[in-house]
Amino acid sequence: MLQATGIRKQFGNLQVLKGVDIRIEAGEIVSIVGSSGAGKSTLLHILGTLDKADSGTISLNNTAINGMTDRQLAAFRNQFIGFVFQFHHLLPEFTAVENVCIPGWIANRPKQEVEQRAIQLLEHLGLKERAGNKPQELSGGEQQRVAVARALINNPRIIFADEPTGNLDSRNARELHELFFRLRKEFNQTFLIVTHNEELAQMSDRVLHMKDGLITNGS
Ligand code: ADP
Ligand code: MG
Repeated sequence: MLQATGIRKQFGNLQVLKGVDIRIEAGEIVSIVGSSGAGKSTLLHILGTLDKADSGTISLNNTAINGMTDRQLAAFRNQFIGFVFQFHHLLPEFTAVENVCIPGWIANRPKQEVEQRAIQLLEHLGLKERAGNKPQELSGGEQQRVAVARALINNPRIIFADEPTGNLDSRNARELHELFFRLRKEFNQTFLIVTHNEELAQMSDRVLHMKDGLITNGS
């Protein structure tokens, strides 16, 4: 599903990624752990095509992304990649269901099909009654589940999650973990998750340790 080799990234004088190799199979749930500043978010952004590496190769869904134009990258990202961040980044002026629809609208899919799928996803995630609410009317756990539904709207091949439970209490964190595993079971959904949550790391298929810009326990 994902193969990257020799990923390097420098900000100014700071070498943040020092040649990272990583390989994720379809349907795997892999966690990345490591102290603050290790380069985890930078790596996730680069693998998710939100940022560019200085060197190295990335292949996602059997497609090499090196050499794609920004326009091609944006289309590829919208179609194949879902993101969940620590803060939900839902747009406050849109309802839950509209927020879920947005990546589908950007992908120019038929409006009705996108809306049906959005409602289906919200229902599946236990949020049917919340579809018409604005983000600020939802609890933190609900907001994060709406963000997961939004990440799923275009049926991405992989979801990158950066400390998705960092802002949740333990009960809501556990619910989100259970949701990830349910999505894997149902859709063979692949996840790469940066987390400080011990429980989630332990549940994962593999845990990658990151330190000073390198994965220290293989790839
Ligand atoms: P982590 O997610 O593991 O905490 P990050 O990838 O966010 O680490 O950051 C790694 C290092 O890179 C940090 O020292 C951070 O300050 C630096 N860094 C991250 N993004 C930028 C940027 N856009 N410009 C300059 N420095 C950055
Ligand atoms: Mg980070």
